[in-house]
Amino acid sequence: DNLANAFTRNNPKSKTIYNAATNSLPGGNTRSVLYYHPFPLSMSRASGSQLFSVDGHAYIDLLGEYTAGLYGHSEPLILAAITEAAKRGLNYGSQHEDEVRLAELVKQRFPSMDLMRFTNSGTEATLMALAAAKAFTGRKKIVVFDGGYHGGAFTFKDGKSAAVNAPHEWLIARYNDLTSVRALLDSEENAGKVAAILVEPMLGSGGAIPPTAGFLEGLREAATAAGAVLIFDEVMTSRMHSGGGIQSQMPADLCPDMTTLGKYIGGGMSFGAFGGKQAIMELFDPRKPNALQHAGTFNNNVLTMSAGRVGLEQVFMPERASQLHARGDKLRKALQDASRGTLMKITGYGSIMCFHFTESTVEDVRSPQDLKDDDKTLSSIFHLFMLERGYYIARRGFLALSLALTEEQLDGFVEVVREFLRVHENLVKS
Ligand code: PLP
Repeated sequence: DNLANAFTRNNPKSKTIYNAATNSLPGGNTRSVLYYHPFPLSMSRASGSQLFSVDGHAYIDLLGEYTAGLYGHSEPLILAAITEAAKRGLNYGSQHEDEVRLAELVKQRFPSMDLMRFTNSGTEATLMALAAAKAFTGRKKIVVFDGGYHGGAFTFKDGKSAAVNAPHEWLIARYNDLTSVRALLDSEENAGKVAAILVEPMLGSGGAIPPTAGFLEGLREAATAAGAVLIFDEVMTSRMHSGGGIQSQMPADLCPDMTTLGKYIGGGMSFGAFGGKQAIMELFDPRKPNALQHAGTFNNNVLTMSAGRVGLEQVFMPERASQLHARGDKLRKALQDASRGTLMKITGYGSIMCFHFTESTVEDVRSPQDLKDDDKTLSSIFHLFMLERGYYIARRGFLALSLALTEEQLDGFVEVVREFLRVHENLVKS
C-alpha cells in the first residue's frame, strides 16, 4: 500500500491520462498486458535504452517492448531507414524491393522457411500458420500448451480459457511433458485428426521457461508420427541466436514444418511472418487455381519492410546477437547469485528472462504448473519497487534486453535487486 500510494503521488499526470482513458477504452486499456495496479504509467518519449514519463521521470527500459524493442528506441540505422522510406512515400499498394530483400534475409536465418508471407502482427502470423496447417492436412484439431502464449490466437493458463479468441479445436498439453502430448495424439478421439502442434521453443509470456533436453526433439518425432504439422512460434525466441531462433541451434532433422515470427524482425514497426515447407506454403501461390487467400493492406508496408531489412542486414549481425545472448546469460547468473536462498527465482534463456517468487528451484520450473505458488503480491511489490528506482519491467517480472542497454545499467539493476532483497528480507525469505 505504501508503494502504491507513493506511486500515485509521484505520477499525477499518468493518473489523469489513465482516468481519461477509462471513458473510451474498457478499463482504460487497449492492450491487456499493459494494465497494472493502481494505474499504468504514461510515457511521452523514449531514447536509446531509456523511457521518459509524462510525469518527468526517466526509466531504464528492461522490458524492451516484450522483445520487439531489441534495437532500443533510437538505433541510428533503423531511424534513418524509416525516415528515408517515409520520404519515398507511404504505402504504394504494390510489390517493392525491400519486401523481397527482407524475405531473403529471414530465409537465410531460418533455413526451415522455404517460403514465407508477412503479416502485421505475431497474432495474425500464428492464425495464418494454423489455417495453412488445417488446409494442408485436411484436419482440424490443434495441440497447444497450457501456459503457451500466441497473442490473440491463443492464451491459456491453468485451465482458464478466457482469452482463447480463435475458435479452433484446441487440445491442451503440458509444456515439457511429452507423455501428455502423446496421450492426446494417440487417443481414440484424436488419432488422425490433429492438424498441428503449436509450440513456443521457450515459453515466453508463460514465464520464460526453456525446453528441457529432448522435449522439442520429441515433439518433432510425435508430429511426424501423427502426420501433424509442427509449428514453432518464434515470435519471441527468434532473437536467441545469430542464425535465427532456438531452432537454428538444432540439427536439421529437428526443423519445424512451419515457423511464425514477429516483434523485432520488423525493426520495431508492426510485423509478423509465417512460413515453412514449400509444400505447405505453396498453398498460397496466387498462380495456382484455388490458392488459399491471405490478405492484409499493410502486410508489406514500406516502413516495416525497410526498417526490418536494415535491422537484419546491418545491425543485428551474428556478433551482436551472440553478445546480447551472453549479456543476458551473465545478467541472469548475477541475479540468481544475488537471490540465492530466497523465494526470488529467475528463469529464462539468453536475453529473455522472468522473475518468480516461488519455493520451486529454477531447475524445478518446467512448466507454468510448477509455479502454482508464484506469489503475485510479491511480484507486484517488486514491480512497483523497480519503477520507483527507475527500472521499467513488466508487471509479471518479464524482461527482454535490448542492444541499447549498457553493462553499467545492468550492473545497476543487479544492485537494486539486492537492495529489494535487503529491504524485503522477511517477505522473500524461502
Ligand atoms: N506469439 C508469441 C510467442 C508472442 O510472445 C506474441 C506476443 O507477445 C505473439 C505470438 C503475438 O504477437 P503480436 O503481439 O505481434 O500479435
